[in-house]
Amino acid sequence: MNQRTTLRTGTPAAPNTMRGLRLDARGLLVPWNVHWTMGVPDYGVIDPSKVLKAVNEKRCWICGEPLRRFKTFQLNVMAAIERVSPQPPSHRDCAEYSATVLKQHRGVTMLWTTTDHMPFAIGLTMLFRMHDPVTASWYCDGQPATRAEVLDAISSASNLLIRDAEKQGAQAVLDLGRRAGQLLMLAPGD
Ligand SMILES: [Zn+2]
Repeated sequence: MNQRTTLRTGTPAAPNTMRGLRLDARGLLVPWNVHWTMGVPDYGVIDPSKVLKAVNEKRCWICGEPLRRFKTFQLNVMAAIERVSPQPPSHRDCAEYSATVLKQHRGVTMLWTTTDHMPFAIGLTMLFRMHDPVTASWYCDGQPATRAEVLDAISSASNLLIRDAEKQGAQAVLDLGRRAGQLLMLAPGD
């Protein structure tokens, strides 16, 4: 497949650090973490070598350039309640571009910006426990999310997580309620 060499008409300009990324056939920038097969980006496959490189060299998950002091995680609501991300952090402006232009995540997504986080592994899977957010912003299908959309997403995710928590016992249920309550405090206003 021929790769485009110019951005799709009407696509907003990307942050400077993303300008070295290759384009896909639609004329959209392909995040650094995406695996390429035979010259074609495979959006369903994360390049495992990039996870290690991002962690070891403290690189942005989206553009691959060195991170700065503030790190932003792009999360679905369940991950935000758990305070654990399945993906390494990015520059905030790269994460905003990913959420609003590349739209790789459907439904409600949260950008959780923090100064610190802790990588850990479960088996061969690397996960990232986030420290408290310095700022939070919310999007739904590429647009700023409304308060109602965010509250609905938190409620749905809590209803799914409560089943596991109930199996673990009363303390787990209490912890889940506390974390969901903390996330509600970060929901956008009306
Ligand atoms: Zn970046």
